[in-house]
Amino acid sequence: MITFNKPYFTGEETTYIEQAVKNMHISGDGVFTKKCHAFFEENYGFKKCLLTTSCTDALEMAAILIDIQPGDEVIMPSYTFVSTANAFILRGAKIVFADSLTNHPNMDATKIEVLITPKTKAIVPVHYAGMACDMDEILELANKYNLFVIEDAAQAIDSFYKGKPLGSFGHLAAFSFHETKNIISGEGGMLVINDERFAQRAEIIREKGTNRSQFFRGKVNKYGWVDIGSSFLPSDIIAAFLFAQLENLVSIQNRRKQIWNQYYELLSPLQEKGFLQLPEVPHYSSNNAHMFYIILKNESTRTQLLQHLKKNGIQAVFHYLSLHKSDFYKDKYKGIELTNCDKFSDTLVRLPFFFELNHESVKMIGEQMKSFYEGR
Ligand SMILES: *Cc1c(COP(=O)(O)O)cnc(C)c1O
Repeated sequence: MITFNKPYFTGEETTYIEQAVKNMHISGDGVFTKKCHAFFEENYGFKKCLLTTSCTDALEMAAILIDIQPGDEVIMPSYTFVSTANAFILRGAKIVFADSLTNHPNMDATKIEVLITPKTKAIVPVHYAGMACDMDEILELANKYNLFVIEDAAQAIDSFYKGKPLGSFGHLAAFSFHETKNIISGEGGMLVINDERFAQRAEIIREKGTNRSQFFRGKVNKYGWVDIGSSFLPSDIIAAFLFAQLENLVSIQNRRKQIWNQYYELLSPLQEKGFLQLPEVPHYSSNNAHMFYIILKNESTRTQLLQHLKKNGIQAVFHYLSLHKSDFYKDKYKGIELTNCDKFSDTLVRLPFFFELNHESVKMIGEQMKSFYEGR
């Protein structure tokens, strides 16, 4: 059986975890947390980074930081993971969904302006498959209407828009190190703070609403309750695991890109015959090889293909179901039809994708794809 995902361990994770344990500091903000923060700030030029227990938590912190109030409107794609929306729903926001591009699940930046009202407070672009949204367009709108931009960069580690790292465009950005992402720590995430205004309050919110971080830096002589907050910081054990992954980022990314290219070449003939569409990397975006997805003709073909692959020992999956049609949101949704989003929701398939997926396995998957389409 070729599974859809398999977490990759570099081998150093347990060594570093042992060190973290021996350091006698396994709560948050220990040596390894600081190493991870420095890695991101040095390699990607992010102003300030804070590890969190998940990307979901980083998004929740972002919603608190921009002071979302009940009734505020937040624009985001409907084709995304629930956390993108939940983080703002928790603060009482109204979610306004924008449609995807025709040829890519990312939100269509040209369809955002009509959705802006006096109540709009933020735009949340999601870089699907680690491929960039059109950030120039989005930032221009944000400037024009004085809105916050929060990047859901959960899938976008080591990816770039016109050469600049994703996660460095929004006032704030959120990354994920969940087991299914390129770089992992089991559960884990990071908030990137590009706007200095949020730097101090971010530390406080992450530390249960206390100024404990300032206290440990010797900036204040006692610490106490100064704001709302929660426990958003991960144990240094998680950071130790993550640091082992970061040290291997280049080789992980290189191997993932090879797998991606192999899939692309193998499946190109099926695209040429008009059976399916391969991913289109926008001209302004890099490709961080987060996933390999394909777009099929319709939902019934997808059901049949997934069955065919399963029968032959290949676990392919689909996701996301349009959020505006979810059980939770469908009765609350009063917006426009989102036809492109619904199309991806019905027809997108993700093929097995992980570091240790070998050449033979990808070839076998390619052959099974061809055998499915033979005679059709
Ligand atoms: C994975 C993912 C998340 C959630 O990340 P967690 O770290 O599991 O909270 C949010 N948004 C998108 C687009 C994701 O892919």
